[in-house]
Amino acid sequence: MPDSMNVKRALEQQLASLAAAGVGQLPHVEYVPDPAARGLAAPKETVAPTPAPTPAKPQAAKPQALPSTQSVPIAPSGVAISRATTLPVLAEEVAACTLCGDLATTRTQTVFGVGNPAARLCLLGEAPGADEDAQGEPFVGRSGQLLTKILSACGLEREDVYILNILKCRPPGNRNPAPQESENCRQFLIRQLQLIEPEFICCLGAVAAQNLLETTTSIGRLRGQLHDYRGIKVLCTYHPAYLLRNPGAKKDCWEDMQLLMREMGTPVE
Ligand code: URA
Repeated sequence: MPDSMNVKRALEQQLASLAAAGVGQLPHVEYVPDPAARGLAAPKETVAPTPAPTPAKPQAAKPQALPSTQSVPIAPSGVAISRATTLPVLAEEVAACTLCGDLATTRTQTVFGVGNPAARLCLLGEAPGADEDAQGEPFVGRSGQLLTKILSACGLEREDVYILNILKCRPPGNRNPAPQESENCRQFLIRQLQLIEPEFICCLGAVAAQNLLETTTSIGRLRGQLHDYRGIKVLCTYHPAYLLRNPGAKKDCWEDMQLLMREMGTPVE
């Protein structure tokens, strides 16, 4: 493809991703390519971010904020650290990202995240699939439908929580994210969580759990108990796609969700 066509395609992709993330205007974005800036203090969000759904139902005071002044891990290659001050600005950075060459050329658009930007609970998946890549929203395919049902059984709407993935681009053929791809995308995930400041994260499946917690422990061992990620309580459970293939595991998933909801102060039977 000629260069001009690549540029045109990249710009079209970027605009589609931004529109899907609810971004209508394009503010100036500053990158910090200097790895020496690791100790960067993360500025607090001051502007109402998009998308703007209803507030989370069980809106108790957040007991602890994500320690946003903590040093931010970056790729050994010195990947830029995001200093985005709002989710829309971060979504813009993500939409322009070409760190993973393969993914940037094969994606239809980036899939940033959706839901309540002030949610107490984040649901963290692996990476967009074909449906998500087409629609620009996480968990909208068959797995997403099951996730919506699980949330509903917990008394939650999708709009009450924030849903995001480890990777913001679809790996071709729905393969697992490569370690370097997860590493490249980690700065965006960290910044996204710093801006949302959830009290709880529910990791859906091994890829999400192992990447967030930086462990190789199996999902079977990680589930059923709470973990800590920078002061945020983390519950790991099976991925909805796994549950669709192994309905027998739904019981375990439900026990995990009951544990999570008890911790959140809104138990479900
Ligand atoms: N599976 C995921 O992990 N994330 C999505 O967004 C969709 C399916």
